[in-house]
Amino acid sequence: MHPGSFHLEDFPRSARHSLEFQFTAGGQEIGFPVLMVRGDESGPLLLVSAGVHGDEYEGIRAILEIFSELSPANMKGDFVAVPALNTPAVWNCTRTSPLDGANLARVFPGRADGSPTEAIAWHFGQTLLPLADLYADLHSAGVACEMPLLVGYDATDARSRDAAFAFGAPVIWAHPNVPPGRTVSEAKARNVPSIYTEARGAGRIHRDDLSIYKQGLRNLLAHMGITSGSPRAAPSPLHLLGDGDIDQSIPAGHRGFLIPHVSILDAVEKGQKLGDLVDLTGNVLETYTAPVGGRVVLIHACPRVLPGEPVFLLAGVHP
Ligand SMILES: [Zn+2]
Repeated sequence: MHPGSFHLEDFPRSARHSLEFQFTAGGQEIGFPVLMVRGDESGPLLLVSAGVHGDEYEGIRAILEIFSELSPANMKGDFVAVPALNTPAVWNCTRTSPLDGANLARVFPGRADGSPTEAIAWHFGQTLLPLADLYADLHSAGVACEMPLLVGYDATDARSRDAAFAFGAPVIWAHPNVPPGRTVSEAKARNVPSIYTEARGAGRIHRDDLSIYKQGLRNLLAHMGITSGSPRAAPSPLHLLGDGDIDQSIPAGHRGFLIPHVSILDAVEKGQKLGDLVDLTGNVLETYTAPVGGRVVLIHACPRVLPGEPVFLLAGVHP
């Protein structure tokens, strides 16, 4: 169906619904799936998305498995999920869209008459985001990078913070600023509290990351009162603070082969050596040092690094 003719109330309660939004953008037929479990009783609505970047797979599978697990009979409210939002990128196994080269997490609010990626952003933001009482966007490190499993939240919104702690991730990252163009910045513009998640990625689904994502979705449903029970919190999560903008990572200045000297979540001091970029005879092209003290939250996982790609990202520990 066209997203413009979607009305949640047209879909009966006490049922599961599976549909596809379809529209034309940039001369291309585009679509993305929408899965809904409408509880027996009315209540809040949890909106979840994955596949905003096409090479991040944990969230897609977590949504599919939670969708099949939920029963409307035990729910007061709704679970609405888009398992793969940027479908052209998902089928291409790339972070950005093969149709227009755009990054869906940089084009929000998008445009109805824009490129395929801009149109996806527009229809998601106009049709589904306004329905949400809480929005969770499931990412991961993608094929090129490695990150710890973490949940990030808008530090200016207590609802976002509470949801992040309820999710149950081992690392929780408070962001004082939400950069523009993201799914979560569009949610903030609509006064919808949101969280996002990252996982190890590298183009595969780690079994333990998947189980934390699935338990995280169950925890959010319980936190919102859509299902009964209490969220199962992570024991003493690591709490980080900082902008969390991957665009602010230390970038490579050359093409080279990366030799990291640190691992994910290592504590580093300002000035500490993070790694070397070498050529294929071992000559050091660049040496990376920590611009600030903190924890390592991103390492370029594929040793072949291209100019401009993110190599390392650090985050401070929450005081
Ligand atoms: Zn992502």
